Amino acid sequence: MDFWFTETVNDTVGNTIKIKKRIFSGRSDFQKIEVLDAYHYGRTLILEGSVQLTEKDEFTYHEMISHIPLFTHPHPEHVLVIGGGDGGTIREVMKHSTVTRAKLVEIDPLVIEKSKQFLSFVSCEMDNPRVEVIIQDGIQYVKPYTGIFDVILIDSTDPVGPATGLYQKEFFQDVHKALKDDGIMVAQSESPFFDQQIVRELYTTLKPLFPIRKMYLAPVPSYPSGLWSFVFCSKKYDPILDNRCEDLRRLNLNMRYYNEAVHQAAFAIPNFIQELIA
Ligand code: SAM
Repeated sequence: MDFWFTETVNDTVGNTIKIKKRIFSGRSDFQKIEVLDAYHYGRTLILEGSVQLTEKDEFTYHEMISHIPLFTHPHPEHVLVIGGGDGGTIREVMKHSTVTRAKLVEIDPLVIEKSKQFLSFVSCEMDNPRVEVIIQDGIQYVKPYTGIFDVILIDSTDPVGPATGLYQKEFFQDVHKALKDDGIMVAQSESPFFDQQIVRELYTTLKPLFPIRKMYLAPVPSYPSGLWSFVFCSKKYDPILDNRCEDLRRLNLNMRYYNEAVHQAAFAIPNFIQELIA
């Protein structure tokens, strides 16, 4: 039966979508998990009442979290994804033939199970032999490593519950240590309209750690405000000066959003956001 689903953005704002069918609803040790079939957006994954991805617009988020760093690093081989249990980010990482090993560290096995069962459009590369899926808290997972990853992608939920520590200084120090001397980290960094405090704190935390820190933006219509931000942190390579986007011309990678011009343009930051992260 039809119903309207509202994601509560704050005390006075909500995002509402009309649902055709509830496909799955359950609770894991970590969160409430729902898979809904929405009229406009198609299959939709919701965790703790927040939209994580929809069939119709997931491509912008997953292409942008992955290809901006992977087309900046000259030869990414060893990639770590923290969170991202739906598989959308790993699907994009697998488009890079230089990547010999990709590790996905997801805290909640039920997200992986239900994504494989109901969201094959994102989970389709989870069983690729180059992918190792590890069920663990990403905060604990990175701690022991020093200098082994080329690229680390933090594809986390909002900073509540198990993801709270994924936005904190100690975790970013461990991520910095786990990266090689020329490593790159990208983290999803919420809405510059609705999550200004989170964005501001993130840049304050990252400033002493990485010499290169840049925000980039992408539209994700099903997320609050529709405008999403990512933070690009690098020990050596600059995403504008050092990228190898021209490789895209000879590769047929089936991109729906990302291209050479988008790579450059995504780093154009409006004034009110520049003030936020100054
Ligand atoms: N694209 C999404 C967004 O921004 O809304 C994020 C998608 S992905 C589903 C986020 C995943 O991060 C969830 O499956 C959640 O279980 C996982 N997660 C949260 N905290 C974690 C932690 N400490 N370690 C590993 N995974 C974590």
